[in-house]
Amino acid sequence: MTYSMVSHLTCPKCSETYDVDKIQQLCVCGSPLLVDYKLDEVKKHVTKEMIAGREPSLWRYHELLPVKNVENKVSFEEGMTPILSLPTLGKEVAIPNLYIKDEGQVPTGSFKARGAAVGVSKAKELGVRNLAMPTNGNAGAAWSLYAAKAGLEAHIVMPVDAPEITRKEVSISGAHLHLVNGLISDAGKIVGDLVKERGYYDASTLKEPYRIEGKKTMGYEIAEQLNWELPDVILYPTGGGVGLIGIYKAFLELQKLGWIKEEKLPRLVAVQSDGCAPIVKAFDEGKMESEFWENSTTHAFGINVPKAIGDFLVLDAIYQTNGCAISVSEEEIRASQMEVASLEGQFVCPEGAATFAAAKRLKEHNWIREDEKVICLNTGLGIKYPDAFDVNARTMEPHERIGY
Ligand SMILES: *Cc1c(COP(=O)(O)O)cnc(C)c1O
Ligand SMILES: [Zn+2]
Repeated sequence: MTYSMVSHLTCPKCSETYDVDKIQQLCVCGSPLLVDYKLDEVKKHVTKEMIAGREPSLWRYHELLPVKNVENKVSFEEGMTPILSLPTLGKEVAIPNLYIKDEGQVPTGSFKARGAAVGVSKAKELGVRNLAMPTNGNAGAAWSLYAAKAGLEAHIVMPVDAPEITRKEVSISGAHLHLVNGLISDAGKIVGDLVKERGYYDASTLKEPYRIEGKKTMGYEIAEQLNWELPDVILYPTGGGVGLIGIYKAFLELQKLGWIKEEKLPRLVAVQSDGCAPIVKAFDEGKMESEFWENSTTHAFGINVPKAIGDFLVLDAIYQTNGCAISVSEEEIRASQMEVASLEGQFVCPEGAATFAAAKRLKEHNWIREDEKVICLNTGLGIKYPDAFDVNARTMEPHERIGY
């Protein structure tokens, strides 16, 4: 049986199709391309029971991934992160069925490793030697480390004030690191030049079609881990929105396979920061696309994306599932980060914390109801952002004693 049952690439805007065995970037019309599979064949040959017996990584869904030859797989066994119940926090915010899917446990400390695993593997399969990408930190870190493992050269452009640890991850991998005094959008322009001038593979968000395929496995896992019964609401910290588009794509594929019964999919929530909320603005105005967000700023660095190339796909996923988009303040993000750690012992990243702040607000507005099952995506480790919060402690001399 074939390892991958991938079929071809399709443009979600103009329906043009493309060959998966050649390097493809955007559609001629400028839209990102999405991967299609021979779902009838998957349905015939693969069962949920077969998958249940496989390795605990995202590669357990290999028929539904684009890598054709298993020898091209570049993996640190990423995926199958736990979905954990948060009873104490759930009680506090009046959502008893509150869960976290903890992507902090993925290699490189962020869920970007999912996209990198599949994206770098497919790049290797396509014969790519050099890849280039702009990043807010975590993607660059993941892609350079996976590229090192694959023996590819990575050229990474990141804003100077991206989390320092991600800069070090890129640097130690031996990738070419360039720091730009600006935003990810500025880094994107520099990468654009590099791609044009040197012919490098453009691994920018959604400019290659395979990163999303790695990220969509979060959707498969949510379904499988909950016994193929989907939750009511999923909150996702949205920058480029690839994870959200991917989760939605995964659910549509599972529906076509008949592996999930629900006609009604979970309501997908795009969570942003007040300092960078282009998707929220577009949603509030009922639009199908977002506008560039001027002077964007947030300490939740992974969601500082002023204009996402796949914005129309994010908004479509939200509208189709009766979801919503909501932004939270920097203070709410910090407060949530402390609340999750102090009540549940989990040090989530600021982006992940934003989803908890949003869940709390949506419950207060009764958009989330008390009996609903709610999953917050924690997209990375809090320890990757050592400067995101202030330590509450008093320095002592060695001879002093503690007196409460
Ligand atoms: C990149 C990133 C996000 C946003 O992911 P998208 O799928 O591009 O919206 C959220 N959280 C963290 C920690 C990230 O690194
Ligand atoms: Zn097109």
